[in-house]
Amino acid sequence: MKKKPNVFFASAIPEKLERDMTLPSRFIRLLARLPIINVVRNKTVAIKMHVGGGIGYSTIHPLFVKILVDHVRSGKPRRVFITDADISGAKERGYAKQTVGADVVSTLGKNGRAVLKKSTGWKHVPTVLLSKPVTEADVLINFAHVKGHGACGFGGACKNLAMGCVPNKTRAKLHSLEGDLKWNKEKCIRCNKCLRECAMKANKFNKSGAYEIFWHNCKMCMHCMLACPTGAIKIQNRNFYLFQEGLARVAKLVLDSFEPDNMFHINVLTNITIFCDCWGFTTPTLVPDIGVFGSQDIVAVDHASLMAIKTENLIRGSLTPPYVLEKRGHLFERIHHKNPFVQVNALRRLGAGSTDYTVIEVK
Ligand code: SF4
Ligand code: SF4
Repeated sequence: MKKKPNVFFASAIPEKLERDMTLPSRFIRLLARLPIINVVRNKTVAIKMHVGGGIGYSTIHPLFVKILVDHVRSGKPRRVFITDADISGAKERGYAKQTVGADVVSTLGKNGRAVLKKSTGWKHVPTVLLSKPVTEADVLINFAHVKGHGACGFGGACKNLAMGCVPNKTRAKLHSLEGDLKWNKEKCIRCNKCLRECAMKANKFNKSGAYEIFWHNCKMCMHCMLACPTGAIKIQNRNFYLFQEGLARVAKLVLDSFEPDNMFHINVLTNITIFCDCWGFTTPTLVPDIGVFGSQDIVAVDHASLMAIKTENLIRGSLTPPYVLEKRGHLFERIHHKNPFVQVNALRRLGAGSTDYTVIEVK
């Protein structure tokens, strides 16, 4: 019988007010439990993270990046680098060689064209472009900040690879899977009832006068469609399943470039905000800091992270309007109306890992 994967957990909550019990100390001990040092000698190690942008301040604190880089360096790799698709705002958040101890480079190379074309075998997005610097590295450390996400419920290990290791062209193809809107110009009498009905302000008439939905904010409530007196709006409710499956398929292609022993997935659950770090601003953290999960199984690490985020821990006043809590589901589903487990289960079905794992707390 196949052995259950381990997920190591370092809690952000110290039992005593001692330095050794705080998260950075526990993170050091968590890293020692992952067999990173066994595989990095003379190898190239890519640390994929999200460096954020704008005036956002909720990405992984540089101290944790430095701790990780120092740990990897102690195994004597040939090269270690930090990488993300857009690194233009990296320095503002403290991600520079002087602070984190490794070069910060784009997943798409200096000219943005260091990509490989890969076939997905999936009819909705038959081909994608993947980062060469990441897929050509020997060892992958998928270092993700966990937070909510308007189009897929949450962003963690799966999304860190799927959206961060592809150029805009592939990202746009994936985003096109989010919703399916048909608007009939001939039937529209421009009464604007559809706009008035949308509590999320997710719809508008664009510059060319066509009805548009910003799927990221859309909750698929169908109120605009139902309010339309002429039947001009038709929305097919895909529940964002296709988008999440697309994320899982791209993440799996990235993982397929590595030997199973050469991949590590580390999720940081601090500053857990409503939106992704790509928004360029930060809203209050939804729940108190939880800690860090680390595993060699991407499915297990994302699943364990989601299970640790509980609605009952929602901090009062942290939900920025117009967001309200829906009745059912995971906290992220109650906020975004998109089930965050869909991408995790899609990855599991693709053979990338297991939702049956053992959590080991690192004290
Ligand atoms: S389906 Fe609901 S949330 Fe989406 S655009 Fe229409 S009214 Fe707004
Ligand atoms: S409710 Fe229907 S008819 Fe009225 S503006 Fe919107 S799409 Fe047009």
